[in-house]
Amino acid sequence: MNKKTKTLIWIIVAIVAVGLVGFVISDILGSAKTIGIPEFIGKLATGEINELYVDAYKWTGYTVEASSGRVVAAYTVTMPSIYDFSSFQAVEEYIIANLEKGGAANPNFSLLSLAHFEMADPNAGSLFSSLFPLLGIVLVAVMFWLIMRSAAGGGGANMSINKTKAHVQSNLKVRFSDVAGAEEEKEELAEVVEFLKSPKKFAALGARIPSGVLLVGPPGTGKTLFAKAVAGEAGVPFFSVSGSDFVEMYVGVGAKRVRDLFDMAKKNQPCIIFIDEIDAVGRRRGAGLGGGHDEREQTLNQILVQMDGFEVNDGIIVIAATNREDILDPALLRPGRFDRRINVNLPDVKGREQILRVHARNKPMSTDVNFKTVARITAGFSGAELANLLNEAAILAARAGKKTIGNLELYDGINKVLMGPQKKSRVVTESDKRCTAYHESGHAVLACLCKHCDPVHEVSIIPRGRAAGYTMTRPETDDNDVSYNKLIDNICMSLGGRVAEELVIQDITTGASADLQHVSELARRMVTQWGMSDKLGLVAYDSDQPVFMGMEYGNQSRGGYSQETAATIDAEIRRLITEAHTRATKLLKENRSIMDNMSRVLVEKETIYTEEVQMLMKGADYKEVIAFMDEKEGTHRDNPFATMTKPSAEHIVKDEETQDTAKTETDEQK
Ligand code: ADP
Ligand code: MG
Ligand code: ZN
Repeated sequence: MNKKTKTLIWIIVAIVAVGLVGFVISDILGSAKTIGIPEFIGKLATGEINELYVDAYKWTGYTVEASSGRVVAAYTVTMPSIYDFSSFQAVEEYIIANLEKGGAANPNFSLLSLAHFEMADPNAGSLFSSLFPLLGIVLVAVMFWLIMRSAAGGGGANMSINKTKAHVQSNLKVRFSDVAGAEEEKEELAEVVEFLKSPKKFAALGARIPSGVLLVGPPGTGKTLFAKAVAGEAGVPFFSVSGSDFVEMYVGVGAKRVRDLFDMAKKNQPCIIFIDEIDAVGRRRGAGLGGGHDEREQTLNQILVQMDGFEVNDGIIVIAATNREDILDPALLRPGRFDRRINVNLPDVKGREQILRVHARNKPMSTDVNFKTVARITAGFSGAELANLLNEAAILAARAGKKTIGNLELYDGINKVLMGPQKKSRVVTESDKRCTAYHESGHAVLACLCKHCDPVHEVSIIPRGRAAGYTMTRPETDDNDVSYNKLIDNICMSLGGRVAEELVIQDITTGASADLQHVSELARRMVTQWGMSDKLGLVAYDSDQPVFMGMEYGNQSRGGYSQETAATIDAEIRRLITEAHTRATKLLKENRSIMDNMSRVLVEKETIYTEEVQMLMKGADYKEVIAFMDEKEGTHRDNPFATMTKPSAEHIVKDEETQDTAKTETDEQK
């Protein structure tokens, strides 16, 4: 027998096998009776179905005789495609949720009580095909057959495309007590909870409850957490979907997903639909560059149609979250839609303390940890960042073999959250080190000399994240207003690195690019937004809002000002920066010896803290400082907060605002 006939025979065998298997499977499935969801779940609850096979939305249940192991009945059901049945838990939760709804007898249903439960593993195909090539062919054939079948059944072929990524959670454990430091927001949402608990009470009095609540706030401020807490408090199902999930390549899919989602919700009211990142679909219509009728627009329209279709007290509340309210389509905000708006802001100092306490609840904290201090120096941190900081601290403590989380870990946790881990192992040459040391000393010395700058807490030449080194300053209060003097000082301090390089290295490196960007941005905003230039006067030439491509496109005079004005703006920006540069150069020349000493200490010790900075500023010699550091080595870093609980006298600048945004200052990698 030659090779060709051999392969031919194999192919024939394979085809016969495929046919046979396909036939057998189709026979089994063919005999299964298709029934409705309530009936199917009822049979699961009573135990009539004791074997369950879940393949996404296609569920098959068997009644298997325990004694003989014979299949006496088979049922199939098609579950709503909006759910994600890819986990054991999801399947179980869905069954339980629907049992309760039907008031069925067995609310303690567990999949474990079944004789057999199996889920289609999406990865199984590839594993099998590498093991048994024949099985692979069979699988392909079965899939082909399934596709053919569903196509014949009409419109089911694009099943996987239509599947929405919506998730439903029914017994959420999140409560308002898990959300810290947002009392006003909680009060507003408490109303929503009341309504979900007893919609009839409100309906009886003719009260109109908002059908949509929009949570607006920066990332990580707990918007998702809030939405979950509302569902948890009210004890209602929580349907969640992200706006970006709706945006697909195929036109019409998003709209269909919205319909599916709302249909499902209507069957489960009272409930909450949570649409995260609604700005992904809720942008102003007609603003897209791709012309009028794009996918996003259809999806948005569908959301509006669905929300308008609510009966007055339907018991469904749609909560949406965004951090870009400015680009939302105004239609979304009309009465009957998202007419209730709740701002979720970055936490203030009290809020931060409470959030830290909530997240420290189940962590062993050292007794000397003072959350007030930690809260005070984490201005600008979001709830998520605070949670992350505690987690990093816990990891550091565990790695150090400690039993509790102490101040040292918290301090390092803050830095890690702000700038990524230190890269101690990155090879840095001596000349690079010296250069970075001067650059950072330049920043640090100016930060100390300019009286409106925030106090310096740490200066380091250890690379971290993308920065070659860093000078860290921390505001002492939470004020968001920024004065002219503070901005000018900030620009001066930010130029310090570059100026130090000019003075000492007499050559400039690329290390200052991030500084220069920061400086230009500040100066631009001073001139165009904050009316801080006499030449231009009190006119805002630019709004604070980030430029949104679609909206501004084609609008020729973008900011609405002339070419001359544009030239004046440029000149004013340049003037501010040049003046600051001159001042920085003068100050650093006058204090050259401080800078020299500081950079020598940095080259030697790599990182210095408040105390050393203060010694150097008072004129201490580098040898003195190094000796001081050697002496307290080991004890020094026990409580890094100790030196910063009270700002030093030089830094107390009464009635001056501090700036939240400039919580750190880092340098671009060299
Ligand atoms: P958002 O949706 O606004 O981006 P999340 O709700 O996803 O923020 O918050 C992320 C995480 O941050 C939460 O899971 C929680 O651990 C923490 N967090 C944020 N805000 C708070 C808060 N006010 N209280 C407690 N934890 C919070
Ligand atoms: Mg979120
Ligand atoms: Zn710098």
